[in-house]
Amino acid sequence: MRIDLHVHSNASDGTDSPAEVIRRAAAAGQDVVALTDHDTTAGWDEAEAAARDALTLVPGMELSCVLDGRSVHILAYLFDPGDTELRRQASLIRDDRVHRAKQMVARLNDLGADVTWDQVSRIAGDAVVGRPHIARAMAEAGVVDTPADAFTREWIDDGGRAYVERYALPVGRAVGLIRAAGGVPVLAHPRSPGYEVSDEAIAGLAAAGLAGLETAHPDHDSSERIRLTALARTLSLITTGGSDDHGAFTGSAAAVSAAAGSGGDSGGIGAETTPEDQYERLIAQARSR
Ligand code: AMP
Ligand code: FE
Ligand code: ZN
Ligand code: FE
Repeated sequence: MRIDLHVHSNASDGTDSPAEVIRRAAAAGQDVVALTDHDTTAGWDEAEAAARDALTLVPGMELSCVLDGRSVHILAYLFDPGDTELRRQASLIRDDRVHRAKQMVARLNDLGADVTWDQVSRIAGDAVVGRPHIARAMAEAGVVDTPADAFTREWIDDGGRAYVERYALPVGRAVGLIRAAGGVPVLAHPRSPGYEVSDEAIAGLAAAGLAGLETAHPDHDSSERIRLTALARTLSLITTGGSDDHGAFTGSAAAVSAAAGSGGDSGGIGAETTPEDQYERLIAQARSR
């Protein structure tokens, strides 16, 4: 079985529709794929309809969280999308993303970059707006050559001149909310630059109900995977893997440099996968769907 548990669509900052994501996943030989858009479940219905005969869809969401003032991503799987508090929090995050994107456009204008909110908003369409949409607007306006070039200290990378913080959910709170909604919380890319979580903090989250660690991710080298897998075993956490595919403009730093190196697609859907026994552990912990 081939199981990719981390993929984005244009419901957030991916470039392909949920149906196209499923089509690509099937073409890449996946048996199971999780749609994990940032802070939204808006792509679930379309993905579910497209997946029907082709493969098994695991509905998910990558929730924007914060720990000690730093960004952390939690992958939430198989929760009740109607859960009131989880919905309310995701909605607060999405609203603040719009507010923050407008502030970032204003900063860019102060820096002499000619991008407008209308442009960003057109590129994002109905999607949950994120920095990749701003990056695409910057490339369109000729401020940078490619969207990936916007992710520097000079522009919109973390701590960059036009970077603005946004509302996120305290990570322990997120873990509790996902469990309360019947879902399974997994810490995404715990050693990805800008999203690092220490072993001690991971142990704390495990005690608070965290179910798993995403060990196989394009941003993790082989020695990091070995360390994280050992830590997961000690803490009885599930280990998962996913490509973090974002379509034509893939998100992670590693994937972007891989794409630049190959002159085309990044690793793509299925480039990282979850072992079947770990997938079964994850399914066994779901209390909702
Ligand atoms: P946001 O959630 O709006 O702060 O934007 C973060 C998103 O930007 C991530 O989910 C990735 O899709 C993308 N991203 C972050 N860092 C990079 C990078 N170095 N190169 C390209 N895309 C990135
Ligand atoms: Fe992430
Ligand atoms: Zn992601
Ligand atoms: Fe993203």
